Amino acid sequence: MRKVSDKQKEKNKKIRRAYKEIAMERGHYCTGCGRADVPLSHSHIIPRSRRADLSHDKANITYHCLSMGERKGCHEIWESRDRDKLLDYYKNLEYILELDTEYYFIITELNAKATR
Ligand SMILES: [Zn+2]
Repeated sequence: MRKVSDKQKEKNKKIRRAYKEIAMERGHYCTGCGRADVPLSHSHIIPRSRRADLSHDKANITYHCLSMGERKGCHEIWESRDRDKLLDYYKNLEYILELDTEYYFIITELNAKATR
Protein backbone atom coordinates (compact mmCIF):
# COMPACT_ATOMS: atom_id res chain seq x y z
CA MET A 1 0.00 0.00 0.00
CA ARG A 2 1.27 3.45 -0.89
CA LYS A 3 1.83 5.69 2.07
CA VAL A 4 0.21 9.07 1.81
CA SER A 5 1.82 11.82 3.84
CA ASP A 6 -0.25 13.84 6.30
CA LYS A 7 0.37 16.90 4.18
CA GLN A 8 -0.99 15.13 1.10
CA LYS A 9 -3.97 13.82 3.08
CA GLU A 10 -4.78 17.35 4.19
CA LYS A 11 -4.54 18.58 0.61
CA ASN A 12 -6.81 15.79 -0.68
CA LYS A 13 -9.33 16.62 2.01
CA LYS A 14 -9.42 20.26 0.91
CA ILE A 15 -9.90 19.23 -2.71
CA ARG A 16 -12.77 16.87 -1.82
CA ARG A 17 -14.42 19.66 0.19
CA ALA A 18 -14.10 22.02 -2.79
CA TYR A 19 -15.67 19.38 -5.10
CA LYS A 20 -18.55 18.90 -2.68
CA GLU A 21 -19.26 22.63 -2.45
CA ILE A 22 -19.11 23.00 -6.22
CA ALA A 23 -21.66 20.18 -6.60
CA MET A 24 -24.07 22.09 -4.38
CA GLU A 25 -23.44 25.54 -5.82
CA ARG A 26 -23.24 25.02 -9.56
CA GLY A 27 -25.26 23.55 -12.37
CA HIS A 28 -24.16 20.09 -13.42
CA TYR A 29 -23.04 20.72 -17.00
CA CYS A 30 -19.82 21.06 -18.93
CA THR A 31 -18.59 24.66 -19.07
CA GLY A 32 -16.61 23.88 -22.22
CA CYS A 33 -19.54 22.81 -24.43
CA GLY A 34 -22.63 23.42 -22.29
CA ARG A 35 -23.77 19.80 -22.37
CA ALA A 36 -25.27 18.12 -19.35
CA ASP A 37 -25.93 14.68 -20.90
CA VAL A 38 -22.28 13.64 -20.91
CA PRO A 39 -20.03 12.23 -18.16
CA LEU A 40 -18.43 15.14 -16.34
CA SER A 41 -15.17 15.48 -14.49
CA HIS A 42 -13.51 18.12 -12.38
CA SER A 43 -11.04 20.04 -14.47
CA HIS A 44 -8.36 22.37 -13.15
CA ILE A 45 -8.00 25.59 -15.10
CA ILE A 46 -4.40 25.96 -13.92
CA PRO A 47 -3.05 22.38 -13.65
CA ARG A 48 -2.30 20.98 -10.23
CA SER A 49 1.19 20.10 -11.43
CA ARG A 50 1.87 23.81 -11.98
CA ARG A 51 0.08 25.36 -9.01
CA ALA A 52 -0.50 22.87 -6.21
CA ASP A 53 -1.47 25.83 -4.01
CA LEU A 54 -4.52 26.45 -6.25
CA SER A 55 -5.61 22.79 -6.40
CA HIS A 56 -8.47 23.40 -3.96
CA ASP A 57 -9.40 26.91 -5.13
CA LYS A 58 -12.99 26.54 -6.32
CA ALA A 59 -12.44 29.26 -8.92
CA ASN A 60 -9.71 27.07 -10.39
CA ILE A 61 -12.04 24.08 -10.78
CA THR A 62 -14.73 23.61 -13.40
CA TYR A 63 -16.80 20.81 -14.91
CA HIS A 64 -15.49 19.48 -18.18
CA CYS A 65 -16.86 16.47 -20.02
CA LEU A 66 -14.79 13.32 -20.51
CA SER A 67 -13.76 11.78 -23.82
CA MET A 68 -16.12 9.01 -24.94
CA GLY A 69 -15.20 6.82 -27.89
CA GLU A 70 -14.63 9.07 -30.90
CA ARG A 71 -15.77 12.18 -29.14
CA LYS A 72 -12.99 14.21 -27.56
CA GLY A 73 -14.11 15.60 -24.22
CA CYS A 74 -13.55 19.16 -23.08
CA HIS A 75 -11.29 17.94 -20.27
CA GLU A 76 -8.86 16.61 -22.84
CA ILE A 77 -9.33 19.64 -25.11
CA TRP A 78 -8.57 22.02 -22.24
CA GLU A 79 -5.20 20.28 -21.87
CA SER A 80 -4.44 20.74 -25.57
CA ARG A 81 -3.83 23.60 -27.99
CA ASP A 82 -7.45 23.40 -29.09
CA ARG A 83 -8.54 24.86 -25.78
CA ASP A 84 -9.51 28.15 -27.45
CA LYS A 85 -12.45 26.35 -29.08
CA LEU A 86 -14.13 25.86 -25.70
CA LEU A 87 -16.96 28.11 -24.55
CA ASP A 88 -15.19 28.91 -21.31
CA TYR A 89 -11.80 29.72 -22.86
CA TYR A 90 -11.92 33.50 -22.28
CA LYS A 91 -13.48 33.19 -18.85
CA ASN A 92 -10.75 30.78 -17.82
CA LEU A 93 -8.10 33.07 -19.30
CA GLU A 94 -9.26 35.89 -17.06
CA TYR A 95 -8.69 33.69 -14.03
CA ILE A 96 -5.27 32.65 -15.28
CA LEU A 97 -4.23 36.23 -16.01
CA GLU A 98 -5.17 37.25 -12.51
CA LEU A 99 -3.54 34.35 -10.67
CA ASP A 100 -0.61 33.31 -12.82
CA THR A 101 0.47 35.85 -15.43
CA GLU A 102 3.42 33.79 -16.62
CA TYR A 103 1.15 30.83 -17.39
CA TYR A 104 -1.25 33.19 -19.17
CA PHE A 105 1.51 34.20 -21.57
CA ILE A 106 2.60 30.60 -22.05
CA ILE A 107 -0.83 29.37 -23.10
CA THR A 108 -1.92 32.42 -25.13
CA GLU A 109 1.36 32.25 -27.05
CA LEU A 110 0.87 28.52 -27.62
CA ASN A 111 -2.64 29.08 -28.94
CA ALA A 112 -1.55 31.98 -31.16
CA LYS A 113 1.03 29.67 -32.75
CA ALA A 114 -1.50 26.89 -33.20
CA THR A 115 -3.88 29.11 -35.18
CA ARG A 116 -1.22 30.90 -37.27
ZN1 LIG B 1 -17.77 19.52 -22.81
